[in-house]
Amino acid sequence: MGPMVLKFGGTSVEDAAAMRRLVGIVRDRIPQRPVVVVSALRGVTDALLQAVRLASGGEAGAGLEQLDPQLERHLHISAELLEGKQREAVERVVEVARGEIRDLLRIVKGHPGTRLPLQDELVAYGERLSAAVTAVILRSEGIAGRMVDARGCIVTTDEHTQAVPIPTLTRERTRAELLPLVAEGYVPVLGGFIASAENGATTTLGRGGSDYSAAMVGAALEAAEIQIWTDVTGFLTADPRVVPDARPLARLSYAEAAELAFFGAKVLHPKTIQPAVETNVPVRICNSRQPEMPGTLIDSRAELSDGGVKAIAHKPGITLVQVTSTRMLGAYGFLRALFEIFEKHRTGVDIVTTSEVSVSLSVDDTRRLPAILEDLRQLGSVRVSHDNAIICVVGEGIENIPGVAARVFGTVSDINVVLISQGASSINLTFVVSEDEVTSAVARLHAAFFSGL
Ligand code: ADP
Ligand code: ASP
Ligand code: MG
Repeated sequence: MGPMVLKFGGTSVEDAAAMRRLVGIVRDRIPQRPVVVVSALRGVTDALLQAVRLASGGEAGAGLEQLDPQLERHLHISAELLEGKQREAVERVVEVARGEIRDLLRIVKGHPGTRLPLQDELVAYGERLSAAVTAVILRSEGIAGRMVDARGCIVTTDEHTQAVPIPTLTRERTRAELLPLVAEGYVPVLGGFIASAENGATTTLGRGGSDYSAAMVGAALEAAEIQIWTDVTGFLTADPRVVPDARPLARLSYAEAAELAFFGAKVLHPKTIQPAVETNVPVRICNSRQPEMPGTLIDSRAELSDGGVKAIAHKPGITLVQVTSTRMLGAYGFLRALFEIFEKHRTGVDIVTTSEVSVSLSVDDTRRLPAILEDLRQLGSVRVSHDNAIICVVGEGIENIPGVAARVFGTVSDINVVLISQGASSINLTFVVSEDEVTSAVARLHAAFFSGL
């Protein structure tokens, strides 16, 4: 049996009380040989990004000033939980980090061209510090915690802020770094989210990327299980911020969890499931405030549920692009030409539908949209609509259950549905509405499918 990867998100390491709970969770799993992956303390990544923004606008001092209270939280945790040499060690680590951050912010201020690579370098302090503090706290509790620099394990492309892991190198290095430690009885502690390019530059995996790090470590080590410890009691039937009475699910298949995460369920980074599927490692989502609850188990078993629908996800901030061309769909190569444009600008497309003379696509990353639109206009006339949202209704086999689509669209019959996609996989029904209407639509769909169950 491989080791067990335990990933703790920002709220699960945010203060001394959270750290005490983390110690208990790790201690209970010592026989399973835990490997710990931690996020930055909640709010630290945001403050680091704000510091970079201020520095690149010429205000490096203000950037550091607003960061200081966040850095001090590490000291408060250490003052509450550590003493003597261990406490001094944490104080030194935070002081050194503060000095380095100050210097880096000054460079960003003086040389705006360095912003992107240095942003990753700066943001990485969030996870580096939480990993350092966690390892010392585990040791103070008699657990052999050992901080490991995640940048020596996860290897990526050099696309700063959205780097893509290179699986073979990551597997090789992660195994070389971690397996000897695990074999000797240590509990390795790594920061999630951070990685390095082949040239050694620090990179990051996109917001929420610590889940993805944990999945890659789990896949590399052929772990027995990847446990994602967070602030909700598992994967819920909908986003609890929109549906307060959403209920935890005992089980999901990899395919269901991947669709839900991809279409907006923030509890998992969208790419988390992929490494787990490839190595068939189960993923469990657990609440660090209620560790005795079973949480949600995600694995390869596909189970049909009575009503068909297991959960609903939604994702605002969607832009729709429609390309219309009278000389197109009959012609060979039109779709290839269209997708080549998105590939050239390295922008992913979420949903695609076609009619006889037009193609509609949804995108959520609009950074390169102006250049994309310019190229698309060579193919036909282009219409753009902003401020939309995707709603994704998910359940194994819903394609074959009569009446699901009628029930979905009957429930939101007064809302204008601008695009529908079903059938690409048998497990989801996905459609787009205006962003203003998405919360009401999700709440009503949840009531229609889950109330009274
Ligand atoms: P962490 O910091 O532990 O990674 P996140 O904030 O990234 O935690 O993810 C957990 C949050 O995801 C929950 O607090 C909840 O608000 C949100 N969320 C959105 N959709 C779902 C869902 N379907 N099930 C559970 N949580 C969800
Ligand atoms: N700390 C990073 C973020 O806030 C990564 C993570 O928490 O998963 O996005
Ligand atoms: Mg998260």
